[in-house]
Amino acid sequence: MPPEPLPEGARIGILGGGQLGRMLALAAARLGMRAHVFEPAAEPCAGQVVERVTRAEYDDRAALEAFAASVDVATYEFENVPLAAVDAVAARVPVRPGRRALEVAQDRLAEKEFLRGLGLSVAPYRPVDGPEDLAAGFAALGVPAILKTRRFGYDGKGQVRIEASGPSAPEAWAAVGAAPSVLEGFVSFEREVSVIGARGLDGAVVAFDPGENLHRDGILHSTSVPAAIAPALAQDAVLIAGRILNALDYVGVIGVEIFATETGLVVNEIAPRVHNSGHWTQDACLTDQFEQHVRAICGWPLGDGRRHSDAVMVNLIGEAVASAPGETGAAVHLYGKGAARPGRKMGHVTRIAPRRP
Ligand code: AMP
Repeated sequence: MPPEPLPEGARIGILGGGQLGRMLALAAARLGMRAHVFEPAAEPCAGQVVERVTRAEYDDRAALEAFAASVDVATYEFENVPLAAVDAVAARVPVRPGRRALEVAQDRLAEKEFLRGLGLSVAPYRPVDGPEDLAAGFAALGVPAILKTRRFGYDGKGQVRIEASGPSAPEAWAAVGAAPSVLEGFVSFEREVSVIGARGLDGAVVAFDPGENLHRDGILHSTSVPAAIAPALAQDAVLIAGRILNALDYVGVIGVEIFATETGLVVNEIAPRVHNSGHWTQDACLTDQFEQHVRAICGWPLGDGRRHSDAVMVNLIGEAVASAPGETGAAVHLYGKGAARPGRKMGHVTRIAPRRP
């Protein structure tokens, strides 16, 4: 028997105070819940909309314990939260999703091995611990290839693309900061899609319709739904997310990034959290990914995530957004981050249109 659902007024602890934490807290507030954010950086944008903020480092045990003691359940909004910090919180209060999902998603090599173990296709890869491995990897996988650090990569950071013209193995190794990495063979995909799935405390699994993603410079530029893929492939993508959720005994929302190729689906990576490619759900579904996550971690039944509209979500990256366009059919979401910097996600705009049959 799963534990009782948390009552209205319960406190949700969020490790990380970026825009994902902010939108989680807003969804939590709509359900009558309160949020407490833990964030090392000053003035986290989630801090503007929560009941409480703890500003402390992730290795500050006393602060983590006090944070855990002040909440009924905890979650995280980015995957690079140190496992030791999660363990310190989990000693006092449930952390959902749990440690295993974080452990797998924090290490690209562990992630690939996990996915392969489920019988899912991933890009061909080789672990790389030095320039020699890299030269052997080029020989085995050919070029182009992509060298990705095992840890702390996001939004295209910690990645180098390798072409026949270069860089050389030592140069590429230096470019990823001589950090343990994975060399991936290039997947010539037709489309990039992602599935935002959710699993409840009772094991119920649901998924939003797959979205189609466009990246620019390794950063998500836009997501469109429905994805222009065959219905059977969309269903397969959803089933992949379900397999992953069950295998991790997951509670909460997950983002699964998938390449659609001529020969089938190849899983690129998983994000054990709400995901940028699921922001469209805020305006095109009755229950969005943030509410679904809050419901799951609080032990509530999952909500109705059916899509009532077609949608295109476009990120506002590195742009100062002085005023929101008053455009028909467009919903503007700004993160309250203040100064725009190149590559910084400042907000997003979702345009909806009547759902095509
Ligand atoms: P990632 O950080 O792994 O999500 O990579 C960022 C983006 O780079 C992906 O969304 C793809 O557009 C591209 N990419 C990453 N890995 C590969 C690959 N093995 N083959 C082709 N494109 C890739």
